[in-house]
Amino acid sequence: VPSLIDELCKKKHLKMTSQRRVIVQVLSEADDHPDVEEVHRRASLINSKISLATVYRTLRLFQDKNIIDRHDFGDGRSRFEVETSSHHDHLIDNSSGKVIEFHSDEIEALQRKVAKKMGYRLVGHKLELYGVPLSESEERKGK
Ligand SMILES: [Zn+2]
Repeated sequence: VPSLIDELCKKKHLKMTSQRRVIVQVLSEADDHPDVEEVHRRASLINSKISLATVYRTLRLFQDKNIIDRHDFGDGRSRFEVETSSHHDHLIDNSSGKVIEFHSDEIEALQRKVAKKMGYRLVGHKLELYGVPLSESEERKGK
């Protein structure tokens, strides 16, 4: 079964080398947001000849072609994920670095409303929330 990223590459007429194919496989199997080093580490397990430079170049290319999204979750590292058809935003746990995906219809609607008020039709946005887990007493207060 071809993955979403396979189809994106085909649609954008990208030539598929064997090394690119490995990187495509790594990205399509990732359910997190790996950085360049992590993509390289995973790619090396499949093909040990893939260099970090190749991974850099390929990720840059995929990014330019809007096949993958690049995120900066505040730790100075670029993280990547396949551009999904289902839009989501991210909550970053500052204490563990964990990235949680979420979708809020309320936030989506509010953003459209704000843009409209300023005379714009919204065509996209990027939203990152940063937080630390609630303490037990905070959690009790919230209930
Ligand atoms: Zn994500």
